[in-house]
Amino acid sequence: MLRTMLNLLYPSICRACSKKLGDFNRNICSECAGKIKERLPPFCLKCGKQIGEDPAPADICQDCRNNEPHFDRAWSACIYEGTLKNLIHDFKYNRITCLSADFASLMTGFMKKHGIGKDSQVIVSVPMHTSRLFRREINHSDVLASSLGKRLGIPYTGSALKKIKNTSEQNKLGRQERIKNLCSSFSIKNSSRILNKNILLVDDLFTTGSTVNECSKILKASGAGQIEVITLARGYSV
Ligand SMILES: [Zn+2]
Ligand SMILES: [Zn+2]
Repeated sequence: MLRTMLNLLYPSICRACSKKLGDFNRNICSECAGKIKERLPPFCLKCGKQIGEDPAPADICQDCRNNEPHFDRAWSACIYEGTLKNLIHDFKYNRITCLSADFASLMTGFMKKHGIGKDSQVIVSVPMHTSRLFRREINHSDVLASSLGKRLGIPYTGSALKKIKNTSEQNKLGRQERIKNLCSSFSIKNSSRILNKNILLVDDLFTTGSTVNECSKILKASGAGQIEVITLARGYSV
């Protein structure tokens, strides 16, 4: 009743096209949601890259054969383009945090379909260095992990990791530079929380995977069990 009245007084709008929405629980209209493309298998059994187009299809992609990742398996729910790309930008840089609920819904739909996170016991987000957090005010990975935790019924109480090196923005760097940039940049904050536990590592984007790989390295070295990575989006070519 209260929700209906509030909705009449302050109708929520689609964050992508500004159309009025009749549902307070959503921030994206069905037309815009229809433009968001889910990623389709076959995926590399390690990093989640789409491998169907490879000249010689294999279960594990060449990148993972050359450098085995520290995580056990990574998945990415949607294609990073168009409407979703703009929404992620608003979420991260314009602090439209309400979108985390819609993003978590896209992620849990994908996870259910592929049986992801069934054995997860602890959710870990990718931490941000305090100086960047001060500038940005929110850690988008934290907000997303919290929304996802609510949907999955796994309480999220903050990341077990911390960022100890204030690195350059990853999106401005090439693959090798990204790896070098991140080297030893994370540390464990609370090892008892992850010891022998299966981890669901959450972030918004998977680009080269170097960030989640570096996080996985420290988690495994600190005694974590299986690590599944789930990200909201990933580009076409990666
Ligand atoms: Zn819309
Ligand atoms: Zn791979």
